[in-house]
Amino acid sequence: MDRPEILVVEDEADIRELVRHVLEKDGFPVRVAADGETALREVRAAPPGLVLLDLMLPGLDGLEVCRRLRAQPDTAELPIIMLTARGEESDVVAGLNLGADDYVTKPFSPRVLLARLQAVIRRRQELEPSKGEDPVLRRGPLTLHRGRREAVLEGAALSLTWTEFQILVLLASRPGWVFTRYQIVDAVRGEDYAVTERAVDVHMVGLRRKLGEHGTLLETVRGVGYRFRDDA
Ligand code: CA
Repeated sequence: MDRPEILVVEDEADIRELVRHVLEKDGFPVRVAADGETALREVRAAPPGLVLLDLMLPGLDGLEVCRRLRAQPDTAELPIIMLTARGEESDVVAGLNLGADDYVTKPFSPRVLLARLQAVIRRRQELEPSKGEDPVLRRGPLTLHRGRREAVLEGAALSLTWTEFQILVLLASRPGWVFTRYQIVDAVRGEDYAVTERAVDVHMVGLRRKLGEHGTLLETVRGVGYRFRDDA
C-alpha cells in the first residue's frame, strides 16, 4: 500500500505527538497543525494524502474545517478521518453528513487508528475499476463513472461524498440484490467495524436526499438491509 502524507490536526500536544509517532513508525510522512486555521493553510500550501481531523479545536472547529475543505473543488475529495471524543455522537453524524470518510473515537489504540486509516486509503485505491471491467454503470436515470468517480442523474452531476459514491456503486452493481448493513460496511470500508454500521443508515439518508424523486431507486429491506431497485 502507498503511504500518503497525513496531516494531523489536533490541539492537544500529547495526542498530536502520539499520533505522529504511531504514523511515522508505520512509514507515513506526517505534518501537524494545532488549530483549524493552520490546517486550512497547510492544505492550501500542499494538499496531504489524508487529514486526521480533531473535532474540538480552538477557533475554527473540526466540523467547520471539514465543511470548508469539502466546499473547495480542489480539496472536495480529500480523505478525512475525524478524531472524536466520547459523547460527541451528534458531531459524528454531522461530520459524516459533511462528507468525512470515517471517524475514530479517542482514546484509541495505535492498531485501531492504523486499521481505519489503511481502510480509508485502500477503499480509495479500490475504487479504480479493475482491468477489463466496464468503468461505467448505467441504471435507468443514473449513470456512474467509476474511474472518474462521477454520478450523473438525468444529465446533471450529483455531488456525492466518497462513501456515498462507493455505496451507490456497490448497490447498483447488482440491482435487486439485497446487501446487509454488515456487507455494505465490509465492502465500503474493507474491514468489519460493527460500530460503524450505523453510519450506513446516515449515508443512505444522504444518498436518497441527493437522488431526490429518484431516491426510491434505493429500497430498504426491513430487518435486512438495502437494495437497488431492479427495474431501473
Ligand atoms: Ca481537541
